[in-house]
Amino acid sequence: MEESTKKNVATLVISTRAPYDILDFDDGLPEMTAYTRHELLTGLKTLRRLLYADDSKKVLQGIENQLSVSNTVNIKSRIATKDGRVRSVFITGQAFQIETISVLRCVFNDITHLENAAIESARAKTDLDRFANTVPSGLSKHLLDNNLSLIWANNFYYRIYGFADEVSYRKASGRSSLSFIHHEDLSRVIDTLADLSGDVSGKAISYRIRSADGNTHWLKVTLAPSGETMKGFPVVNLVTTDITDLKIAEMKAQLEEQKYLIISDISEELAYEYDFKNDVLTFADKYKTSFDGPTIVDHPGERLILQGLVSPDTAPAWRKLFELASSDTKRYTTEIKLMVRDRGYEWYMTTFSTIYDNENNPISVVGLLRNIHEQKKEQERLLSRAEHDLMTGLYNKTAAESKIAQDLSILNGSSQSVFMLLDTDDFKRINDTFGHLQGDEVITNIAKVLKECAGEFDIAGRLGGDEFCLYLSNVYDMQMAEEKAGFIAKRLREIYPPEQQVKCTMSIGITAVSTATSYETVLEQADRAVYKAKANGKDCCVFYTPDMERSEYVNTRE
Ligand code: GH3
Ligand code: MG
Repeated sequence: MEESTKKNVATLVISTRAPYDILDFDDGLPEMTAYTRHELLTGLKTLRRLLYADDSKKVLQGIENQLSVSNTVNIKSRIATKDGRVRSVFITGQAFQIETISVLRCVFNDITHLENAAIESARAKTDLDRFANTVPSGLSKHLLDNNLSLIWANNFYYRIYGFADEVSYRKASGRSSLSFIHHEDLSRVIDTLADLSGDVSGKAISYRIRSADGNTHWLKVTLAPSGETMKGFPVVNLVTTDITDLKIAEMKAQLEEQKYLIISDISEELAYEYDFKNDVLTFADKYKTSFDGPTIVDHPGERLILQGLVSPDTAPAWRKLFELASSDTKRYTTEIKLMVRDRGYEWYMTTFSTIYDNENNPISVVGLLRNIHEQKKEQERLLSRAEHDLMTGLYNKTAAESKIAQDLSILNGSSQSVFMLLDTDDFKRINDTFGHLQGDEVITNIAKVLKECAGEFDIAGRLGGDEFCLYLSNVYDMQMAEEKAGFIAKRLREIYPPEQQVKCTMSIGITAVSTATSYETVLEQADRAVYKAKANGKDCCVFYTPDMERSEYVNTRE
């Protein structure tokens, strides 16, 4: 018997009658079945036992049927090998007579690998179909012809267009996949398709379609040539996503942005955004109309102080603004002074709000700056008017009292404060002799001298009529108080020299305290000292001493 050259082919001779005894075979059969020649001839002996049990009955029946009508056999079966594997074989047989016995010469072609490939390919195809139909995007293949003719699409593709299946889609679209595209977008799509022929990387395009339900949808479509051709046209793969919701949100946002720009343009306010993650401040363009410098500033908390945009006295408020903006503060308002081009520092009020995402994480901080300079100045004017004596410009009684009381209340023994009470001597006589106007002039001149004498942190006030006060805080020795009293007397002598008719001198009572004391207490002490000064002949200053409590004193205030 001739030998097979290929291992996946075996030739054997069997009898044509059940149980189909194996009579002879080549080396292909032991190789295919892993049985030895001996086992095949003495153990298995028959074709029936060589076949896979599940197949044997059907295959033997098939052989019998085929032989009843011709002397050839073509049938597929499986065989069980000795090492427990199942192999698929295609059996081709030819029956002929050897002397008196009828035999069948069979060739077993092992087709296991072909079967597996077929199973694999079937599985791959179903996997691909399943995948294609679960992704929430339209996947489709088209010819790049004039109609972008559809070759294949997943279910989602049809659904995007509002159809239940391929049939209804094809019925509605006619021949052209372009028939659903909004007329305003059509030429743009066609231009893109024309550009696509030579482009292997693909293109993305957004356009509107009218879907089966009559609604307009926005689609984002990525087109990529597949590299194949069909019917002489290139084949193009499309991924289609419905972006209608996104588009609506985008248009709304654009509208909001426009609205916001218009509002920001006509309003007095200047908008800004602070990216606290990167510490970058961005002002709206309007910034340039009032301020110098770029509209985008990193590390604005310090930089804009250094650059002089923020006034030194409001720098702490500016720093605090950015500290709070960086630490998840919902809303905050403060006032600062900014350097306005050609005008100098002006007051601004700013309010910021933190914007959060859906998970309540802060995204960014937006704020508005509003110029409140006029308001602020008016406020200051009003406050100043309320606090100052109209005739002299000194603090009035109420303001002087409250400012002095405030300072006295925080004394803690580490420094001294001096309270001086000054009463004009014989003022009634000035009024009586030279008239009220002259009296007023004297009062105004006394105020001028007190202003000359008062330092930046001293409080000079007119307590009423011809009575004044001067409060000095943080005084280290009493000599300074005496010097001030001396200065006042000297200046008044210069204005009203003794040889002239109008004379103006003052009696000054001085008291000093270093611990928290009430205003009433220092007032009474100073008043006792004034009383003493008047008694001593006026035009002098007297320091309060505790023994004055025992001496005669008429409290004219009560
Ligand atoms: P003494 O030395 O004891 O202080 O005597 P005096 O004349 O100054 O007495 P007193 O301080 O009691 O008098 C204050 C006077 O000042 C009484 C009042 O008519 C007058 N006077 C109060 N307010 C004004 C003012 O605004 N203008 C003018 N011209 N006179 C005023
Ligand atoms: Mg007086």
